[in-house]
Amino acid sequence: MIDEEKIGQAVRLFLEGIGEDCNREGLRETPRRIAEMCKEIFAGIGKDASNHLSVTFEAEGNEMVLVKDISFYSVCEHHLVPFIGKAHIAYIPDGRVVGLSKLARTVETYARRPQIQEQMNAQIADDIMENLKPKGVMVMLEAEHLCMSMRGVNKPGSKTLSYICRGEFEDKKELRDTFFQMVK
Ligand code: ZN
Repeated sequence: MIDEEKIGQAVRLFLEGIGEDCNREGLRETPRRIAEMCKEIFAGIGKDASNHLSVTFEAEGNEMVLVKDISFYSVCEHHLVPFIGKAHIAYIPDGRVVGLSKLARTVETYARRPQIQEQMNAQIADDIMENLKPKGVMVMLEAEHLCMSMRGVNKPGSKTLSYICRGEFEDKKELRDTFFQMVK
């Protein structure tokens, strides 16, 4: 539950902390704006994706299904600055498939909270395994972390790649190779 009052107070304190005057014109409405924004960018806190993934359809065939380039915006929980990127999701159905937009919704659910990429990667893969019960799932994330681009090592444009395999993707290198080929 987002507490707008608390966020407003915290932002005012924060602005004072960095030596700003939170009564100057440009900043006056900032605490309220941030509180409002938090409702959107942290809408995934406390949610899981099972409500999206529980509606499945019977389908013949068990060929790999891959949805690539699902863009996401998340917030690094160590620095509270954005990391922005794309998710690629593949799974091998075991008699049931899910609407393709539901995979994007799953990504969204886990992106809209303070996150770390590796954790988000695992949460997406595990949720799909658990709800859809496919033969296997593979999720790859590629993202630019602004905490690396605008501070610290200052390396704009560098991307962090991570992937996680479950089920048949763990056992079969051919499947992983096909995945990598397709997302290239
Ligand atoms: Zn960070």
